[in-house]
Amino acid sequence: MRQSNMLIPTLREVPKEADIPSHQLLLKAGYIRKLASGVYNFLPLGKRVLRKLETIIREEMDRTGAQEIQMPSLQPAELWESSGRWETMGLELMRLNDRHERRFALGATHEEVVTSLIGDEINSYKKLPLTVYQIQNKFRDEKRPRFGLLRGREFLMKDAYSFHETYESLDEAYDQLFTAYKRIFERCGLNFRAVIADSGAMGGKDTHEFMVLSDIGEDTIAYSDESDYAANVEMAPVHQTYESSNDEAMPLEKVETPNAKTMQEVADYLDHTLQEGMKAIMFKVDDRFVMVVTRGDHEVNDVKVKNLLDANIVELATEQETIDAVGAGFGSLGPIGVPDDVEVIADHAVKALVNATCGANDNGYHYRNVNPERDFSATQYADVRFIEEGDPSPDGHGTIQFAKGIEVGHVFKLGSIYADKLGASFLNQEGRAQHYIMGCYGIGVSRTLAAVVEQFHDEQGMLWPDSLVPFDVHIVNLNMKKDEQVTVAESVYDTLQHQGFDVLYDDRPERAGVKFNDSDLIGITHRVTVGKRAGEGYVEYKNRQTGEQQDVHVDDLPAFLS
Ligand code: ATP
Ligand code: MG
Ligand code: MG
Ligand code: MG
Repeated sequence: MRQSNMLIPTLREVPKEADIPSHQLLLKAGYIRKLASGVYNFLPLGKRVLRKLETIIREEMDRTGAQEIQMPSLQPAELWESSGRWETMGLELMRLNDRHERRFALGATHEEVVTSLIGDEINSYKKLPLTVYQIQNKFRDEKRPRFGLLRGREFLMKDAYSFHETYESLDEAYDQLFTAYKRIFERCGLNFRAVIADSGAMGGKDTHEFMVLSDIGEDTIAYSDESDYAANVEMAPVHQTYESSNDEAMPLEKVETPNAKTMQEVADYLDHTLQEGMKAIMFKVDDRFVMVVTRGDHEVNDVKVKNLLDANIVELATEQETIDAVGAGFGSLGPIGVPDDVEVIADHAVKALVNATCGANDNGYHYRNVNPERDFSATQYADVRFIEEGDPSPDGHGTIQFAKGIEVGHVFKLGSIYADKLGASFLNQEGRAQHYIMGCYGIGVSRTLAAVVEQFHDEQGMLWPDSLVPFDVHIVNLNMKKDEQVTVAESVYDTLQHQGFDVLYDDRPERAGVKFNDSDLIGITHRVTVGKRAGEGYVEYKNRQTGEQQDVHVDDLPAFLS
């Protein structure tokens, strides 16, 4: 492609709105342009990288036997009402009415649509297991869209859904998809960790997030320096028990803890305690924690999220903000899909309660029934400890370190909850109607692209890994006024294209300095500069990654680049 014709609007200055490298560089190098908050255009370079990334994802998904489909973004409200998420998704779900005042949501995720689709189309165990996926724009009205593509309001996701007769079959698919995800992120050259995740407030063992290690990441990972153990810090183990002996009914309260940004910060408050008999459930909403405190008349450990919704949240349902918080806290890959083990909720509860208790007096928030001295008399204190850097790893190998991560993927065993809610069933081997057992698997495609830039750049611009680079070769002709150079550049351009290289040819009538700057910014690994030695048949090769530089004869160039 001739750069003179291409839409690559590079910028000299860093746009004011961008404060992290990937966002700055994607704008500066002309890969993306903003339309509205959290909504972006992909320009030709951005689209090329996106397409390469999609190809990697498709190849690895197809290899698992998953089948590509495409589902609509426009989704009837009734479907979301049957799962309960019309309410629980809160403000994050984009909603609209058609001309007949029928209500719709714009797809934030597709569990409802896919469950209804497969429920209608598949009637027998003979067609199972089945995994479908799509690569499609998702809509989420994020409270704080930021960091460019990293947290958008319209963004590209690969989402997959698997359907099973048995849990063993789900386990198999989960392992396969887990492996596919590892391969995808490896092929992107990313430095990442698969971590035990905490899906919103749900917890459980059978969910993992794929975290790209990066200082600008919004999540904190606890990992072992000697083994594969890694967990989202929100899931890092806190093993404690507390006895309930106080049956006096406590009113339900919502508590906000605006001071805390991470679980670790919450943990830092920890020298206070939990009143016996109290239970609390906490949700993370952006950088705030919102907690629902209940009287302790049920065992948190046995409560499934469904029950939490039914039992606790519904009592608070007059407060829209709480519903919204709960919706956001659950995340969108299956708020009602929760594994049996929800121990983490108890851990969260303790941390949150402690934080709320400690924070109550100095941040101006009005808390009730959380301050042991003021609101009730505590008779027994819980013994709680949080995992810290340097602690022994829970798997017995090595010690715990912390790192920041960007969540690029998330795999999750949903179980049958969506099929239960939507009444989606098939005839199983015994000839009885059974609800599907499901898994769901997401990759933030546009977020992954930004995460790659976050890990691969320098002061001058991007440093694309081979697998994603928008062009194979960048030819830079330093002087378009010199016929000799133009002739050589044109001939190199033709030859390389003939040999199958994807070539970007800077044929603009710009100064050499401008061309070099843009070339560094755009970040194509192999640069071929046509300059003063063109007359002798020599061009200068420079590798953007290694800085390696040498003169190469044009006749040797195709072989040199192969
Ligand atoms: P986050 O915790 O960052 O809000 P999430 O847990 O809500 O993400 P999932 O519901 O697990 O996201 O969606 C699957 C994947 O979609 C995520 O792992 C992430 O890579 C991507 N994703 C989610 N929200 C956004 C967003 N606002 N912008 C870009 N990518 C996103
Ligand atoms: Mg998340
Ligand atoms: Mg989210
Ligand atoms: Mg997630």
